[in-house]
Amino acid sequence: MTKPQVVSTVRAMCGIVQAAQRSGQRVGVVPTMGALHDGHLSLVAASRAACDATVVTIFVNPTQFGPNEDFSRYPRTLEADLAKLAAAGADYAFVPDVAEMYPAGATTMVEPGEVAKPLEGQFRPGHFRGVATIVLKLFQAVPADAAFFGQKDYQQQLVVRRMVADLLLPIEIVVCPIVREPDGLAMSSRNVYLSADERHKALSLSRALKAAESLVTQGERDAATIASRMQTTLREAGIESIDYATVVDAQTLAAIDRIDSLAAALIAARVGTTRLIDNAILSVS
Ligand code: AMP
Repeated sequence: MTKPQVVSTVRAMCGIVQAAQRSGQRVGVVPTMGALHDGHLSLVAASRAACDATVVTIFVNPTQFGPNEDFSRYPRTLEADLAKLAAAGADYAFVPDVAEMYPAGATTMVEPGEVAKPLEGQFRPGHFRGVATIVLKLFQAVPADAAFFGQKDYQQQLVVRRMVADLLLPIEIVVCPIVREPDGLAMSSRNVYLSADERHKALSLSRALKAAESLVTQGERDAATIASRMQTTLREAGIESIDYATVVDAQTLAAIDRIDSLAAALIAARVGTTRLIDNAILSVS
């Protein structure tokens, strides 16, 4: 169990990746904000299965947090993260500081397209601008062959895919399934904020998505009916603050009346002060 090599500068990181690629290796990158859990480690496993070397980036990106969000209290657990990465077999941890990723005077940002506008874009203005900007910068620092993202952040992977296509970035985007606790709660670094009572309420997110899936299995195709069932499930569990619980087109996130082939059921809700997101793909075949 060798610890990953920790790299903190863009110059050193980029050199290591380029040298590996010159020697014929395929390099995978897993961008994270740290506070690692089994969801993150599933991305490391996917990268290790598809690549010769795996770089995990750990960077709590200030530009994707709103002014009233949890940037300063976001969990930072570097030593535990490195131990988990050692056990998972990651080769490198790229751990830059803010000044390394945002050099003095940095003002250039990536403006993502339409898919960033609804849902998270509406409730977290500027969030995807920050995400797209840091992901592009991380791809510069770690010019990998493939990057691994989780379906957990459904809209994020659509924004990243769109950016990669639009900006002609030479990297393959791989999206991996959501990893859940045994009781269904989607793993998230923010779950540590939940009290026992809140954690219990939080189970209603995955329960609502399961209810949506079974409605579709039973033949329901009306998006509003399914969304309304999800909202009822959340409210019955005592969740009052629902940002959205909706069924939309899986690719564009546009509103739909009926599910024809693929839709996405997406939820964002506040449990106490903690904002949680979860989702499921609804497919009719
Ligand atoms: P974060 O550290 O929260 O920015 O997440 C880093 C990456 O891990 C993103 O691509 C997330 O979608 C992914 N991720 C987070 N939670 C999970 C999960 N429960 N299952 C799978 N991937 C996840």
